[in-house]
Amino acid sequence: MESLVIRGNAFTAQDEYHVQALEDCLVCIDADGWVDRVLSPDDEDYASVLANSRQHHQLRELAAGEYLLPGFIDLHVHAPQWPQAGLALDRPLADWLNVYTFPLEAQFSDQTFARKVYRDFVKTLLAHGTTAAMMFGTIHVDANLVLADECRRQGLRGYVGQVTMDNPDQAPDYYRDHSTAAALAASEQFIQRVQETVDPDRLVTPVITPRFVPSCTDAALAGLGNLAAKYDLPIQSHVSESNWESQYAIDRFGMHDAAVLDHFSLLTSQSVLAHGTQLTTGDMQLLKQRQTAIAHCPISNVYFGNGVLPVHRLLALGNQVGLGSDISGGYTPSLYHNIRQAVKSSRMLTDGVNSQLPAQHRGVADSQITAATAFYLATAGGAEALNLAAGRIAAGCRADLQVVRAHRLWGNETTADVFERLMYQTEAADVKNVYVNGRLVYEN
Ligand SMILES: [Zn+2]
Repeated sequence: MESLVIRGNAFTAQDEYHVQALEDCLVCIDADGWVDRVLSPDDEDYASVLANSRQHHQLRELAAGEYLLPGFIDLHVHAPQWPQAGLALDRPLADWLNVYTFPLEAQFSDQTFARKVYRDFVKTLLAHGTTAAMMFGTIHVDANLVLADECRRQGLRGYVGQVTMDNPDQAPDYYRDHSTAAALAASEQFIQRVQETVDPDRLVTPVITPRFVPSCTDAALAGLGNLAAKYDLPIQSHVSESNWESQYAIDRFGMHDAAVLDHFSLLTSQSVLAHGTQLTTGDMQLLKQRQTAIAHCPISNVYFGNGVLPVHRLLALGNQVGLGSDISGGYTPSLYHNIRQAVKSSRMLTDGVNSQLPAQHRGVADSQITAATAFYLATAGGAEALNLAAGRIAAGCRADLQVVRAHRLWGNETTADVFERLMYQTEAADVKNVYVNGRLVYEN
């Protein structure tokens, strides 16, 4: 039995390269927040379901120019960096971390500050059409619990990580886990506190979160691998993010950081690793074998990645890829903006950027992706990375959805035109409604 029926035009990813348009469909949502069926006008039940839902005031009919899309899934974002989004991007990485990021994250020892930031941040993600996010918190258990609480309170599907950073060589005294034992105890405490909290919609999942290889001692990495196995939890970290970070792992361990994470049992089918701009073919194959997903953060990579992730190649190899905003290495929480940047960066990777070279030597052939592929990353790709039945408008998926308004439609656009315009021109002001588990969580 439906508790909500949404009627209108919808777009959903068919596969990595194609978008399916559903015209005047009925998306039928049950009382537990699952899509139980999607009917098109030629289905025999269409008229009766429409009449019945209208009679019971369970029908939401989209207006002309409104479209239903799956909610976006942000696979990589640092919630405590929200106050510095759009700042310090011209600074070198060491300054960005030590002058801006670490002092800001250290302030989350204050729960009042944490509440203020996280309340606004969760609301902002929803307002941009994001219905699920895999987030780094800080090293503070209490502040991370505030973030989990805001997700539940506002209705965002949150994957929340207690950050581990216990290596005194790479983290300042004022913002570091003071021993490996304390770091692992804090992670376990956070997991238990989240799992004990009443959460009828099961919106929050704790995540094992080694910040990145340089921040962690060997013992911490090993301990986090054990915790992930003990509690059967997702893992998030960074991988092959930049020239510096890749070289660091080689200098310390004599191997790439993907292999280091694998050595410590941190590459699993529940792992999501951000960036990967410096991954070798061997690293890509290792991630594929482990079914570990990559969070592509195209805006952040412009500033800190020292390269462009070859998304098209990874998808062709069979790797799992989704999309991340990487607040605040990226300056915007909008996955629409990241969809655009993913396409633009892929075009520059294909053509190359040094026009003083002959055209055939400038770029990496066959690297470009389309808006349809970038949309796949933001929806179905992200859901597959999280092993979450969502990211598509289809029976058996969670009703995590957004209603957006297209503007400047002149009446002669094809369905494909409308989709492309939505990808290129949608801003937060155009996101009208957001549903998580079939529940209205944001209205504009
Ligand atoms: Zn990051």
